Amino acid sequence: MSGWTLGIETTAHTLSFGLVNAEGEPFPSASDTLRPDQGGIHPREAADHHKDVAGRLFGQILEQQSLSPSDITSVSYSQGPGLGPCLRVGAAIARGISTRLNVPLVGVNHCVAHIEIGRQQCGCNDPVLLYVSGGNTQVIARLNGRYRVLGETLDIGIGNMLDKFARAQGIPFPGGPVIEQKANEYLKNNPNPSMEGLRLPYAVRGMDLAFSGLMTAAQRLIENGASLESVCWSLQEHAFAACVEVAERAMAHTGKRELLLGGGVACNERIRTMCDEMATDRDGTSHAPPKMYCIDNGTMIARLGWLEATKRTTQLSESAIDQYLRTDQTPIVWP
Ligand code: AMP
Ligand code: MG
Repeated sequence: MSGWTLGIETTAHTLSFGLVNAEGEPFPSASDTLRPDQGGIHPREAADHHKDVAGRLFGQILEQQSLSPSDITSVSYSQGPGLGPCLRVGAAIARGISTRLNVPLVGVNHCVAHIEIGRQQCGCNDPVLLYVSGGNTQVIARLNGRYRVLGETLDIGIGNMLDKFARAQGIPFPGGPVIEQKANEYLKNNPNPSMEGLRLPYAVRGMDLAFSGLMTAAQRLIENGASLESVCWSLQEHAFAACVEVAERAMAHTGKRELLLGGGVACNERIRTMCDEMATDRDGTSHAPPKMYCIDNGTMIARLGWLEATKRTTQLSESAIDQYLRTDQTPIVWP
């Protein structure tokens, strides 16, 4: 395909436009994230935010590469999974641009986009993906032409758990980076930390995970007088170890030797180190894309749209969003 593919990401709190060129090479996104002063994210408020910033960001993404709208030859968007009102705004923008420019529309699977940008960035071929984001926590591997979910959270996503715990301590969204900072402060003052008095429940359930009990127990530690820094450290150790354990079992079971991290929580240095150690122990390798491609971004949507556009496009009549789109509903039709 000649020209540029535009990608539009609106599954949750972020509206992001991204681009890949005719060779599928990615370029940085133009993004804006809703950060409420208080409380969590309300889907309709996030959707209103996306509508408000869309025009400015579309101008910005074109300007970044000195393009005009007519350089866009294909438009892809997150068709699901995600928050309904947010997805609908992205789909409406995508339909509008595609109709106006008379170029093909490609609705793509957000979770699969995280995998494909990671493969492209890290040069791995057939990894087990540990996808750790705000709303999702999944261990995924390619088997028989689909990405299959081998394990996932049974309640909330790991990022939501970190954000909720942080919010209860008065830390605004996103809480994950602040928790990482506090954990590091704790380690600086306690180079040989002990779990004594900081133990939390085990989050592994077979091949699945569960985080809400971990969050409640961490809050209880604070109520009982443990320092915020110490609990942040313990919370990271417990939550990440659980994810890494499920990922390791997935590698053992499938015989795959590459591990790939994706999702916003993959920005965390501690989970990156734990994955490295586990993969090295198994004579494998662990990979993590640059942080701008771990968080939700339009570029990964453009990349997957570019990959898929050679085999299929989305007709307007089938362009409706699917809040509950599953990772394994998307056949892998690209190399
Ligand atoms: P996403 O849903 O993929 O856009 O990722 C957003 C989530 O990533 C939020 O829950 C953030 O708190 C979390 N996050 C971002 N940076 C970090 C970090 N350094 N450590 C832990 N969590 C993080
Ligand atoms: Mg995501």
